[in-house]
Amino acid sequence: MTGSSTAAAGRAEAAEPLVTQTADVVVVGAGFSGLYALYRLRKLGLKVVCFEAGDGVGGTWYWNRYPGARVDIESMQYSYSFDDELQQEWRWPEYFSPQADLEAYANHVADRFGLRELIRFGARVDRMRFEERTSRWHVSTQRGDQVTAKYVIAACGALNATNVPDFPGLDSFRGQWYHTSQWPKEDVSFDGKRVGLIGTGSTGIQAAPVVAGSAAHLHVFQRTPAYSLPANNRPLPPDYEHEWKGHYAERRAQMRQSFTATYMPVQQYGSVFDYSPEERARILEQAWASRNGLLMMRTFTDTGKSLEANEILAEFIRGKIRQVVTDPDVAELLCPKTYPVGAKRICMDTGYYETFNRPNVTLVDVRANPVIAITPAGLRTAAAEYDLDIIIFATGFDAVTGSLTRMNVTGAGGIDLRAKWARRPANYLGFMVAGFPNLFMIHGPGSPGVLAQMITTGEWQVDWVASVIEDLDRDGYARIDATPDAEDAWSAEMDEMAGKTLYRFADSWYVGANIPGKPRSFMIYIGGFDQYARRCTQQVRDGYEGFTLARDASPSKLP
Ligand code: NAP
Repeated sequence: MTGSSTAAAGRAEAAEPLVTQTADVVVVGAGFSGLYALYRLRKLGLKVVCFEAGDGVGGTWYWNRYPGARVDIESMQYSYSFDDELQQEWRWPEYFSPQADLEAYANHVADRFGLRELIRFGARVDRMRFEERTSRWHVSTQRGDQVTAKYVIAACGALNATNVPDFPGLDSFRGQWYHTSQWPKEDVSFDGKRVGLIGTGSTGIQAAPVVAGSAAHLHVFQRTPAYSLPANNRPLPPDYEHEWKGHYAERRAQMRQSFTATYMPVQQYGSVFDYSPEERARILEQAWASRNGLLMMRTFTDTGKSLEANEILAEFIRGKIRQVVTDPDVAELLCPKTYPVGAKRICMDTGYYETFNRPNVTLVDVRANPVIAITPAGLRTAAAEYDLDIIIFATGFDAVTGSLTRMNVTGAGGIDLRAKWARRPANYLGFMVAGFPNLFMIHGPGSPGVLAQMITTGEWQVDWVASVIEDLDRDGYARIDATPDAEDAWSAEMDEMAGKTLYRFADSWYVGANIPGKPRSFMIYIGGFDQYARRCTQQVRDGYEGFTLARDASPSKLP
């Protein structure tokens, strides 16, 4: 989404629309999970069509090409495991890959495995309708494709539906504006420009240092400060890469059996209260200096569970901010104090706090004085006017559910997904929504999503769906649906788990708090990827407990 004269990243290509075609499976989205779904389902001999709104593959790493975009999980891990030759041959230049390297990798995979021919680019799905009589999904796109399929796999991304706050006056702005997740492919020059950056989550924190490097002046409009740890990114040493490649098989297996689907050996020190303040500081300094700041969160066993223990870690991080930022008032404004560390997605930065020591950077508190309007010349807060040439919205997403609810999905009996999810995004095992047969979600609500490493968990979810499809087709079933009872039980389990964690103390996108009017519930399965995978496997082994399977196209029980 952009208000500039330059074209946005997602441009429809000229390929002819597919009209009234049939397929076994429609995959929505050619991001990392969607690409793997194409690979996996084609191997089953199924006819697969993929619709991708962009004109290239990579999903998140196609759209989020904003300055400074970089993954915050090591690339040796944040990569596909399904093909050993691929993981042995591919070379990651840095620990944490920049967007361009991730996009190049997605393109390589699409070409190497011949997946591109299955994808219709520039084809944004705008309607998905389940027809009960035939048990078929009718999927159509904005550019006119119409495909009927038995199954749909929605691999459309947990962080895809762009959130641009509804500030009055945006249309009147005389400069250029961009949302970070719809960044143009063409270079955006900040040279000599007065830039305003709204939002200081993971994205804003990555963008600010890069933009500040060339802008005449950067105003960072901050509503809530984030906890950010140093990424300590650097070129990947050959011996480290060699060591990983020599142990890929067992490490990937360990990742699949871990809470976050990552390989992160960490020395745990027990309770933070078992140590003197000096000992704690020494241990936390080690973690801070480590290659991966996320290790910090796991160094002590109780900082993620108890508010008192968490406060010790939070204060350590605030101390780091105060050490780096020379103006004490600015430092204090950058110190998060209203929620526990880890209760919102922890950020990883490269020089974020140092940015505020630059003479061309100003931090503006829009908690105290909110943005009231975009004006022709810039932006107005409750306290002041700011003249700007470029506005960057790093304001996040209608996360987890937004990509599906914006697609006009109707299930059995014509029920609208938005109506079904009006109170909460009810689902079963994060895969299915009762009343929407044969529609499988990847990284949807109810799954571990962003709380685990998404390429590995995406591969696992796709494998689960593929094995379900195999079972259904082999045994002659027309449809599978979740039961409303199983869905209720899954919601209750999700609530119970989330209610015991520190996540409840933050107004985060995890609970939908960033979107006005969005129902509030913790949308992500928090019991760990390992437990989640066991549960999903078990439910299938137990004769598809919680699902109804039908051989004919008769209506499934409506929720
Ligand atoms: P985000 O975490 O939702 O942050 C959005 C920011 O915009 C917040 O600071 C928010 O303030 C602010 N904002 C929203 N509406 C506003 C308004 N009306 N006025 C003023 N400020 C407003 O979004 P994000 O930074 O794009 O990150 C989303 C997720 O993407 C991350 O949590 C992470 O999972 C993923 N991500 C990962 C990476 C990585 O791997 N390195 C990089 C980027 C993103 P409030 O906090 O007050 O709402």
